[in-house]
Amino acid sequence: AHEGILRRQSARESAARTYARALPIVPVRARGLTIEGADGRRYLDCLSGAGTLALGHNHPVVLEAIRKVLDSGAPLHVLDLATPVKDAFTTELFRTLPPEFAARARVQFCGPAGTDAVEAAFTLVRAATGRTGMLAFTGAYHGMTAGALEASGGASEVRVARLPYPQDYRCPFGIGGERGAELAARWTESVLDDTKSGVPHPAGMILEPVQGEGGVIPAPDAWMRRMREITADRSIPLIADEVQTGVGRTGTFWAVEHSGITPDVMVMSKAIGGSLPLAVIVYRDDLDVWQPGAHAGTFRGNQLAMAAGTATLAYVRENRLAERAATLGTRMIAELRRLAGEFSCIGDVRGRGLMIGVELVRPEAPSDPAADGPRPAAPELAAAVQRACLRRGLIVELGGRHASVVRLLPPLTITDEQAAAVLDRLADAVGAVAR
Ligand code: PMP
Repeated sequence: AHEGILRRQSARESAARTYARALPIVPVRARGLTIEGADGRRYLDCLSGAGTLALGHNHPVVLEAIRKVLDSGAPLHVLDLATPVKDAFTTELFRTLPPEFAARARVQFCGPAGTDAVEAAFTLVRAATGRTGMLAFTGAYHGMTAGALEASGGASEVRVARLPYPQDYRCPFGIGGERGAELAARWTESVLDDTKSGVPHPAGMILEPVQGEGGVIPAPDAWMRRMREITADRSIPLIADEVQTGVGRTGTFWAVEHSGITPDVMVMSKAIGGSLPLAVIVYRDDLDVWQPGAHAGTFRGNQLAMAAGTATLAYVRENRLAERAATLGTRMIAELRRLAGEFSCIGDVRGRGLMIGVELVRPEAPSDPAADGPRPAAPELAAAVQRACLRRGLIVELGGRHASVVRLLPPLTITDEQAAAVLDRLADAVGAVAR
């Protein structure tokens, strides 16, 4: 079955397939961190549906919540009508929000994907401000629909101005740290204040608190606060894209909590649906200028996804899984940094909570790393590490602007023993590739 399925799907599916290309496995069973393939092989899954599975595969509380809806006779699809399932989801979602945000929050069900919610956020701030331009950052990823794609750097129109996103390792100003982040902030200010910059007074700014697909780049808290100030001073709505960083992933329930900022709009998807498709925007009530029907869509607020999502949000909150992600993530990052000391092909290890990236670089060390800066990215080595991991029963994702970053997004329920096994296999894979 294994070979046949792989062969037929690769013949019939679009060439745009990504994960399937790098991960030629046929999952037939899964539980927690573990996936079992049709060929009987077992894998530790640190891809977790690109960060969707906060509780891992088929968590009992998620399955139970879905079964309960199925067995209750409740309708599975009712457009945007109010239901007990939706009421429970909204109540639980609001419970997780930073209190000052929750106090004035409205939710709009979008969907079913993260990109739909990004699009809704753009539509909302454009309606609320009467302006059209959007500010986004280099290396951003917001989705594959037109507006989101543009904000991700995929298209050419100048409706989206792209600004430098601060990072230590490949700092656009070559200095990193607080000074690099401050320079990035000043750049943003000067673009906004320069009437000749070609950026009309924008309708909004969208940012990821930690860039995920861009290569796991956590924004410094001070920079996040500067972005809040800069946008607030100019009445530009700030949209926090928490599609990947939300639900405990980075060590706080929502990643904006690290810096303590209150965005105007939060975009949420992935983990909020407990492994089923669900996406919402949550925003301050005075932005709610939409008239009935201004933002529609058939598949908004899937009942099963909301039930699975309610169970997931409650489980993460009640079991303090964000704190767990913070402590375990810190430990894993420290161990990976030790590994980087052993292997010169690891240029950088970074992350926040259980959103971790290991950047592969060309191992030929420059004579003076301080003067020469980071070594060139090595996408071919990263792909080789991914393959070596797979042979060792470990699934990892690749990301980054140069596809040179091995990404770990394990479920927040991963145990210490499982984390040790993940690190062992990854170290072994890097060793095999570096040799
Ligand atoms: N925003 C961010 C930060 C993401 O990481 C992603 C997906 N990786 C999206 C938006 C788009 O979500 P979707 O793939 O569900 O459309």
